[in-house]
Amino acid sequence: MMHDKAQALLRVQGVGHRFGDGLWAVQDASFELYPGEVLAVVGESGSGKSTLLGCLAGRHTPTRGSVHYRSRDGRWVDVHAIGEAQRRLLARTEWGYVEQQASDGLRMSVSAGGNIGERLMGLGERHFGRLRAEACQWMTRVELDAARIDDLPREFSGGMRQRLQIARNLVTRPRLVLMDEPTSGLDVSVQARLLDLIRLLVARLHLSAIIVTHDLGVARLLAHRTVVMRRGHIVEHGLTDRVFDDPQHEYTQLLVSSVV
Ligand code: ADP
Ligand code: MG
Repeated sequence: MMHDKAQALLRVQGVGHRFGDGLWAVQDASFELYPGEVLAVVGESGSGKSTLLGCLAGRHTPTRGSVHYRSRDGRWVDVHAIGEAQRRLLARTEWGYVEQQASDGLRMSVSAGGNIGERLMGLGERHFGRLRAEACQWMTRVELDAARIDDLPREFSGGMRQRLQIARNLVTRPRLVLMDEPTSGLDVSVQARLLDLIRLLVARLHLSAIIVTHDLGVARLLAHRTVVMRRGHIVEHGLTDRVFDDPQHEYTQLLVSSVV
């Protein structure tokens, strides 16, 4: 499929990041994400996946390069040139960010319903009944028992907490969702069910998503396109089926052959 870059949602150009004067965690990343597309970023631990995701979301300021996002009103926004307040507004209204550890992405002292509802409060909703109804609905959508709306996150299992974090990030109807290893550290059967849910939500809500994972199975199941990272470099980038069935780079070949 040929794409017109003007229609992209996210344009990543020559992004590099180094922490202090240490190694370059990300060297030179360039790619586009198109509306409705799921992109996987794969690579072994330490290859720079999370750092790259942080650069896209504005959590890390890239040492070089730029990230442009086409907002709802059609304007291109340089994610790192706008001020902190504007970036926060974008994050609140157009983006979701699902952390690797649900406990980092949730407020652990706030109930399940509160975790979901407070994101809507951030958009100005103040009506308690509506907040609660919406939170209930979202618990059901992520296949949590809505009767547990007043339970604290710690009362849920790991897989359920991740569902809760997903609900918290989708309740505002973002256009772009960034997920960092959303299924890692969970039992295999729990992972499979969570992946099914993510796939369903992405399709149903027409989300665009970037999913960072060291698990090639996750990329294969969810992503239209896959980026392969090694030591901060993107060594391969293409349609997921092509990357896995006909890997061009010898590192991708090694990665693919080591999982079969
Ligand atoms: P991945 O997510 O692929 O496991 P990371 O992006 O977390 O990789 O890390 C890439 C490199 O950057 C690693 O060498 C890691 O040690 C380093 N790194 C990550 N976060 C920091 C940080 N906050 N300070 C210094 N170095 C970091
Ligand atoms: Mg990581």
